[in-house]
Amino acid sequence: MAISISETLRQPFEVASPGITIGASIGVALFRGGESVEQLLGNCDIALHKAKASGRDALRFFDPEMQAALDQRSSLEQDLRIAVRNKNLALHYQAQTDNSGTIIGAEVLLRWNHPERGLVSPLVFIPIAEETGLIEELGYWVIEKACDQIHLWSTRENASSLRISVNVSAHQFQLDDFALSVERILAKTGARPDRLMLELTESVILADLENAMQKMRALKQLGVGFSMDDFGTGYSSLAYLSRLPLDELKIDRSFVARLPGSDNDAVIARMVISMGRSLGLSVLAEGVETPEQMEALRQYGCHAYQGFLIGRPSPVEEFVLLLPSQ
Ligand code: C2E
Ligand code: MG
Ligand code: MG
Repeated sequence: MAISISETLRQPFEVASPGITIGASIGVALFRGGESVEQLLGNCDIALHKAKASGRDALRFFDPEMQAALDQRSSLEQDLRIAVRNKNLALHYQAQTDNSGTIIGAEVLLRWNHPERGLVSPLVFIPIAEETGLIEELGYWVIEKACDQIHLWSTRENASSLRISVNVSAHQFQLDDFALSVERILAKTGARPDRLMLELTESVILADLENAMQKMRALKQLGVGFSMDDFGTGYSSLAYLSRLPLDELKIDRSFVARLPGSDNDAVIARMVISMGRSLGLSVLAEGVETPEQMEALRQYGCHAYQGFLIGRPSPVEEFVLLLPSQ
């Protein structure tokens, strides 16, 4: 909240002459319960003084733990900026198989090997990339790398039919020129559009359904496929599902984890599979870790699988070892 106040205040405004900009020093104290109003305001004041002392236009917490979290987050943000600029991130490939055990494609997953922190999870840095707008550059970089790979594989007998799934974040998908940008990347890399699968989540699509459908249709016309990621964790409503030009539903791994033991999860997995089948979609189960899980899913009618049982996300050189030799 403090960051958003400070960003709002930073917008230039006009008084007598145009373009006046102000900033704010913000001190934050958390109410833990038990403090008096005077104490709380006093703590805020101490934090505010720290903010001013650090060069103004800054944000400081009274609480050392919160301050540490804030510092860590801003240093991560700085480092991510540098990593994105220098393309210091890697893509790992995770295999997807059909019921015959044949590899049909791979999902690309971003990895950030931080010089000091080691591997940072995308669950940590994707939200930062989204908030800072870095996701735009990063997201297109991922799509381009995937398309380069598709093109490279197009002449290899054992890989030319593989599709690559790419996760698309909300912020990126909402860009007005998203469809056009993807079209440009396809043209530039020479990748076959029908080998590219874009993974969207329900929240991405539902944020602006009409707009999303328009973009999906435009890309669909080129041959690009669409997969609904983490299905079952959101609204999972038939009403919109039937209207979208989707190709695949991915059952979230939270429903796969307790199979075949959990009756509740079995009901959900079955429902998602029959929903997908009746809409003419392929259904892929995520997070398959045991043969028992795969067997249960197969019996429910699932089409495709992804998970540690088949292979962990790994550099492309390792992924290709899973393919039949040429
Ligand atoms: P997701 O798209 O649902 O990706 C599947 C996640 O499940 C991956 O985590 C993968 O490593 C993990 N996983 C796969 N098989 C198994 C399994 O058998 N067991 C368990 N426990 N986990 C498994 P990861 O790589 O940490 O990625 C997390 C999330 O970060 C992804 O979830 C996706 O939402 C996001 N992400 C990753 N790469 C990108 C990217 O390039 N762009 C965007 N926008 N988001 C990305
Ligand atoms: Mg995904
Ligand atoms: Mg998923």
